[in-house]
Amino acid sequence: MTNKVRVRFAPSPTGGLHLGGVRTALFNYLFARAHGGDFVLRVEDTDQSRFVEGAEQYIMRCLEWCGLSPDESPEIGGPFAPYRQSERKDRYKEYALQLVADGHAYYAFDTPEDLERMRRDFKKDEHSVAQYDHNTRMHMRNSLSLPEAEVAQLLADGARYVIRIKMPANETIHLTDMIRGEVSFDSNLTDDKVLLKADGMPTYHLAVVVDDYQMQISHAFRGEEWLPSAPVHILLWQYLGWADKMPKWAHLPLILKPDGNGKLSKRDGERLGFPVFAMNWTDPKTGETAKGFKEMGFLPQAFVNLLAVLGWNDGTGKELFALNELVEKFSIERVHKGGAKFDFEKAKWYNHQYIQHTDNAALAELAKPYIKLNLDALGNNTELPELSYVAHVAGLIKDRCTLLPDFWAQGHFFFATPTTVDEAAVKEKWNEQKRLFFTAWLAELETIPVWDQVALEASFNEQLPNHGLKKGDVMLPLRIMLVGGKYGPGVFIIAEMIGREETIKRIKNMVG
Ligand code: GLU
Repeated sequence: MTNKVRVRFAPSPTGGLHLGGVRTALFNYLFARAHGGDFVLRVEDTDQSRFVEGAEQYIMRCLEWCGLSPDESPEIGGPFAPYRQSERKDRYKEYALQLVADGHAYYAFDTPEDLERMRRDFKKDEHSVAQYDHNTRMHMRNSLSLPEAEVAQLLADGARYVIRIKMPANETIHLTDMIRGEVSFDSNLTDDKVLLKADGMPTYHLAVVVDDYQMQISHAFRGEEWLPSAPVHILLWQYLGWADKMPKWAHLPLILKPDGNGKLSKRDGERLGFPVFAMNWTDPKTGETAKGFKEMGFLPQAFVNLLAVLGWNDGTGKELFALNELVEKFSIERVHKGGAKFDFEKAKWYNHQYIQHTDNAALAELAKPYIKLNLDALGNNTELPELSYVAHVAGLIKDRCTLLPDFWAQGHFFFATPTTVDEAAVKEKWNEQKRLFFTAWLAELETIPVWDQVALEASFNEQLPNHGLKKGDVMLPLRIMLVGGKYGPGVFIIAEMIGREETIKRIKNMVG
């Protein structure tokens, strides 16, 4: 057996990629990179009823955006292709049949009505659910309960069947989990899971074991919701004779609602106004779009960083980690057992930090689409200025920006005349004296030879004594004229940037 580290992210293409899914991909990626291993993307699309058109391509684009590109995938290919389970369909049945032949699995011919009857008849009380297990299986129609000849006849007649695992009674199944340590399961509590469906497709339980074996996966990291299925998988590794090749498992803690009350769901995001998907996801059936972190204006580096610390830390209290640092520092053993509360305010803090650490030219590229969108919406054909101008603006306002759309909200006045002006902010203290001051300064501005912030401020200051005013009396009015509100960087740099003509126009708009 190869000792090479090989891990896999194995999403089902059923819809948008939840941030928990991206975190699973990230932990796999970090582990692979740290150990010089391979990161495999396997698409688990055996459940035709949950298959959603376009979801697979969407998942790949999300990983790309996060910078978590796999080494092997349905798109890239690789030595263990195909990487889509639906294309591996023929590989699973022989193992299901082998399990039947060895007495570890059996054919079950039950109809939906039979199953319904069993659930009703064997229910012990109001709160329990009867399952297909060692208690009930001999009351059902399967190759354990029916005479051999009848089973042979049913198979010869092409009767519909599924193959179920025969869970042993009264056994304790042990798992050594890289995060949880020793975990044990009572075999009596697990039902006889279907391994091969009537349509010939394997279920997840069979496919995950066969594929992890065939793809030589060394470590399998997946969400905690799969922990109850682990005993089935462990038994399958044993029954198929591959126990010594079983990957080391780690079940990752859940990502919880902000109040810690249960798993964070898509609906929580809608309710609380934040995204739970990596990128916008439009459901092809309903046409509804669920918001993504990307479109909301998160930088992928910030998104990756905030996911890494949901359930993990390096023990030093450090919070900011670039991807290469994560590769160096991350260890799966340090992942917490308990669920990690998702805090959107903290997520925004990360993005703000990354914006501060990104150079202005790169920020300009990122902010451009949002600025363009807003300029187009204004509808007066204002062109997006050169990148160097946008970069200069980015540098001036980035400390006020948390999400990329903030580059418009905090800097729109660098690109277009403000559409609303908060005149109320200055109205009370506005008087003829101030109006005369601005009128006089306007005349200066028409001819001032050097148009830069230093010259502009000097000429502004010079005018003050002529009107018996102090600087503090007229700074806010100037800001309101140029910006439209009580925010923004220094007023003289704004005037320098927007230029003579536009500055004069904005002052005149208010002074008349
Ligand atoms: N297809 C499973 C899912 O969508 C993957 C579980 C695993 O990684 O084994 O959650």
